[in-house]
Amino acid sequence: MVTRLAQARAAAAAVEDPEIPVLTIEDLGILRNVRLDGDTVEVTITPTYSGCPAMNVIAWEIEAALSRAGFPRTVVRSVLSPAWTTDWMSEDGRRKLRDYGIAPPDPSAHPACPQCGSKNTELISAFGSTACKALHRCLACREPFDAFKCH
Ligand SMILES: [Zn+2]
Repeated sequence: MVTRLAQARAAAAAVEDPEIPVLTIEDLGILRNVRLDGDTVEVTITPTYSGCPAMNVIAWEIEAALSRAGFPRTVVRSVLSPAWTTDWMSEDGRRKLRDYGIAPPDPSAHPACPQCGSKNTELISAFGSTACKALHRCLACREPFDAFKCH
């Protein structure tokens, strides 16, 4: 039997990141906890970036997903400590990012090109298509690509 809590957790875990739709908030590692308090679902998330505008969207998406799953009352709490790090991103999430053409977080200054795998890459702009990504270019295949910022 699937418990109400398991249903709520599954609905929250399936919420996609608005900026990178191939990743769920579980892939990103920002979904910290889901609990039931009577009729109310309490979802705890840790934002990837403080001030990342996507976080408001994510909170709204979580409420909408739980409402669709039959949970009319949801409280989304942000917990800033401990701070999210790119280490929390799942292996599955990293693979999905690469398949999507975005270099997964890499602590070195030269993330591998998601197209050809070359580490011979350069930073073009610290600001990619969104605040959470930086724009790089691969010197091997000449393709520009977004890289998830590491911190
Ligand atoms: Zn390349």
